[in-house]
Amino acid sequence: MITPETIQQITSRLDIVEIVGEFVKLKKRGSNYLGVCPFHNEKSPSFTVNDAKGFYHCFGCAAHGDIISFVMQSEGLEFADAIKKLADDHGIPIPQITKFDKVQEEKIDRDYLLLEKITAFFEKNFQESQGREARNYLTRRGLNAEIIKKYRLGFAPNSFDALNKFLAAAGFSEKELLTSGVIARSDQQKIYDKFRNRVIFPITDKKNRPIAFGGRVLAAEDMPKYLNSAETAIFKKNQ
Ligand code: ZN
Repeated sequence: MITPETIQQITSRLDIVEIVGEFVKLKKRGSNYLGVCPFHNEKSPSFTVNDAKGFYHCFGCAAHGDIISFVMQSEGLEFADAIKKLADDHGIPIPQITKFDKVQEEKIDRDYLLLEKITAFFEKNFQESQGREARNYLTRRGLNAEIIKKYRLGFAPNSFDALNKFLAAAGFSEKELLTSGVIARSDQQKIYDKFRNRVIFPITDKKNRPIAFGGRVLAAEDMPKYLNSAETAIFKKNQ
C-alpha cells in the first residue's frame, strides 16, 4: 500500500543527485548538475538535474521527471515498484495496511466530519441574531468579515444542548459526540455542550481541517476566560 506520506518521504528524504548519480556521471554547473543523458544517445551532455527542485530534464530528448520517474525510466519499473525499490534501498518503511488500520482510518474520517459539522454549526450561529454580541465583540477587536470567514470564527450559543441535539439530528451517536472534545457527560449522566456563550476559534491541522476549538467568554463573569477542546484522537495538544 503506497500512501502519500511514503511518496512524500521518498521525494523529500532522498537526494535526486545521489540517485541519478548512480547511473549518470554528473558535474555541477551553476545551480544544476549536468551529465550525458541515459535515455538517449548523445556525446555532449544535455541532461540536467535540479537538486533544489528535485527533478531532471534532458534538453536533447525531453526526458523529464522526479526521483520516482527516474527510477521507473532507468530500471523499467512500474510506479509502485519504483517506490518499493527506493524505499527498500534506502530504509524507508512502507506501512502495511491491515484491516484494523482500515477501521481506524474510517473512524478518523468520521472524526473529521464531526468536527467539520461542529465548525459549520458555530459559524451559522455566529451569523444569526443570537450571534450579535459575538459579532460586535470581534468587530471591536478589529476583525473584519473577510478574516472571520477565512478563519471560520463562530459562536457557541448559551445552551447546554443546542450543539449535541444538532449533531444527534445529523446522525451522530452519543458515543461519537463524546469523542468530539466539546461535549461531555455530567455526573448525572447527562450529555452537555462544554462551549456556551463563547466566541469560537477553530484550530486546524496543516490541511486546514478543524480538529479542535478555542472559545473565549463574552460575559465577563463566565469562567474560564479561554476554554479549549479536550484532547481527542485527532487533537493532541503537544503536537
Ligand atoms: Zn535525453
